[in-house]
Amino acid sequence: MKQIIQDLTKEELSELIKPSFRAKQLYNWIYHKYASSFDDMKNLPKDMRQELNDKYTLNPLKTLLVQDSKDGSRKYLFELEDGLTVETVLLLMRDKEFHDDGTIKHQERYTVCISSQVGCKVGCAFCLTAKSGFMRNLTAGEIVEQLRMIKRDNNIDANRRVNLVYMGMGEPLDNLANVVKSVKIFADPEGMAIATHRQTISTSGLSTKIEKLGKMELGINLAISLHAVDDQLRQQLMPINKAYNIASIIKAVKEFPINDRKRVMFEYLVIKDVNDDMASAKKLLSLLDGIKAKVNLIYFNPYGGTEFKRPAEKDMKSFQEYLTKRGLHCTIRESKGLDISAACGQLREQEKKGEK
Ligand code: SAH
Ligand code: SF4
Repeated sequence: MKQIIQDLTKEELSELIKPSFRAKQLYNWIYHKYASSFDDMKNLPKDMRQELNDKYTLNPLKTLLVQDSKDGSRKYLFELEDGLTVETVLLLMRDKEFHDDGTIKHQERYTVCISSQVGCKVGCAFCLTAKSGFMRNLTAGEIVEQLRMIKRDNNIDANRRVNLVYMGMGEPLDNLANVVKSVKIFADPEGMAIATHRQTISTSGLSTKIEKLGKMELGINLAISLHAVDDQLRQQLMPINKAYNIASIIKAVKEFPINDRKRVMFEYLVIKDVNDDMASAKKLLSLLDGIKAKVNLIYFNPYGGTEFKRPAEKDMKSFQEYLTKRGLHCTIRESKGLDISAACGQLREQEKKGEK
């Protein structure tokens, strides 16, 4: 199989393709003009275009399904070259608005949720991605291409600001090398130029990898999928807690370099009658004491065959209120794209069952 050209950083490209300013031109074609063929790159010499065609592929993903949600979110199912599939979601965080005279008040605000693996080894009890097991890591280029496909399909201009979250399928820190490479490719000022402080890696808490990531000083944001405040319950929900318990995660987070204006996000998936009680809220507060943290409460999104239930709105609100009243930033994740089964893995399941 030919190499995916998006696997390469600009520095790597300039080593491979001479003279080196060609790498910059290529980056421009790929990440600003969203080129889908080397033949379109008219300012490259013909023999170079031929060489690129011989050695590289530019289109590693194929769109299989697109699903729109009422709130403007849009979910994609992409097929990789080996036939496996991954999901990516475009989230519309704020609509475009106009002044009375028709001029633009502010642009839409986009966040894109990308996948880092096909399946996942972590095996969380509530997660649909986990159900189909682990297939393989995505390459850096396959990660990068998810965003390029979405920007092209939605006519999102290269200069428009986009936030990125590694919260799709897979455990990003279990694919650390490729994920870090993709972070750098995304951040390249001559490519998509997504500053690292606009990128967030979400992890189930692989403490040693959090430490390793921290030492790289990338300036990236960190989100921890905590979901439970005592080891016993967390172990039931997330078997990985046997290897990396809550204390080890808290320690790793305390050492993680955090941008002055940012906080570490703690995601707390709220499941009815499992972790939605006030005692948990109280314990969460003390657990995060001394950390520049914010909490994001997520409604459990049910799917066929799960024993878990969506929490009541009033319990969510009380949980949030308990924390905010005591000075801890806490938001409730809107059910973005709920009607398109937002939690990752769900579109893929439907495809497999032939429901779509
Ligand atoms: N593996 C990483 C990143 C991907 S999961 C991690 O676990 O952090 C992204 C988020 O989706 C996690 O916080 C996860 O707990 C959440 N999630 C998984 N299944 C869900 C469901 N059924 N409903 C709502 N959120 C879910
Ligand atoms: Fe993997 Fe995250 Fe799903 Fe857990 S919640 S199985 S870590 S993708």
